[in-house]
Amino acid sequence: MNSKLKALRPTYAEIDLRAFGKNIETARELSGTDIIAIVKADAYSHGELEMCGYAYQKHNCTKFAVATILEAIILREHLGEGVSIFVLGYIDETFYEEAYEHNIIFTINDNDTATKYNEFLQRKNLHANVTVKINTGMNRLGFRTDMSWYEFSSAYPALRPIHIMSHLSSADTDREYTYNQIEEFHNFIAKNKIRCHTSLLNSSGIAGYENKFSLTRPGIMLYGYLDGGYDVKLEKVMRIYSRIVQIQYLRKGDAVSYSRKFHADRNMAIGVVPIGYADGYPRCLSNKSHVFVDGIKCPVIGNVCMDMMMVDLTGVNLNGSLKVEVLGDSIDADELAEMAGTISYEILTGIQNRIPRIYID
Ligand SMILES: *Cc1c(COP(=O)(O)O)cnc(C)c1O
Repeated sequence: MNSKLKALRPTYAEIDLRAFGKNIETARELSGTDIIAIVKADAYSHGELEMCGYAYQKHNCTKFAVATILEAIILREHLGEGVSIFVLGYIDETFYEEAYEHNIIFTINDNDTATKYNEFLQRKNLHANVTVKINTGMNRLGFRTDMSWYEFSSAYPALRPIHIMSHLSSADTDREYTYNQIEEFHNFIAKNKIRCHTSLLNSSGIAGYENKFSLTRPGIMLYGYLDGGYDVKLEKVMRIYSRIVQIQYLRKGDAVSYSRKFHADRNMAIGVVPIGYADGYPRCLSNKSHVFVDGIKCPVIGNVCMDMMMVDLTGVNLNGSLKVEVLGDSIDADELAEMAGTISYEILTGIQNRIPRIYID
């Protein structure tokens, strides 16, 4: 099966489950508590079902968070009732029924959602576990810290808060602001004598700050990346490989790809790599990035196309295996992100499903 998948185009992503497992344990160790594994966006494009199945079975990970109700329902049907599934984002009323049936833990961000979900539950004489989100400075979702916890609890009797969370905006860039957010959240928990689970730290929070709460919410670090320059030993989980599918011999002056943005300044051999911007390889890396062919650094030349791109094969033995490393040990998502003017998160989550994932353990 794997060899057929590898032969599809032949571009594939190798997902190292053992590395993922090690990163889970590293996150737990640094947190000093259990974690809610953040697996939104198809587990940062690593494949939600496979990653969660592995984390649950091999590392007893029983708390997962996703962004949408659909991601949550798919996960519930795959993993069964033994795990807690949190939805971090907004859930529309249309999906209250399904969310309840699948035992999905909502995030209550404001009185509007609280009122609607509470009414839905009361009409059916039900109760539901929820997360309550507090805004301590991200200024995206959540109640202000001066909200009355007492009023909240009495206004929405059908909601059972089992987890209070807040979110850091700058754990990778601003220590003072982060300390303020930690203190603000800590005071909120203390003032309201909250006894249920609490969480604040994301990956860079876990790496750079002491955890004062009962859970943490690592995302990117589970996949081997971390912003903020913190010295934490993580293992990269995804590698993308391909193969040269055609060699072209250019004469000096020949141009390559759409709009002729590369001109050969000498006779040269170039190779076609079957990966393009529709796979998540950013088009803005045209004439900018590089891959490794049989270990030799080869610049990407000309515009990246939808399904293919061309590379300069100077220095490569053209009778070799012509295996291409697009993302891996020689060039990682941080480097690609740097060249593309973005962050590793966007490179990883941009990788599309048409690149088959090959899981190794
Ligand atoms: C995405 C997300 C996380 C994980 O963030 P990382 O930086 O990837 O660790 C944690 N909490 C919330 C609310 C999120 O949306």
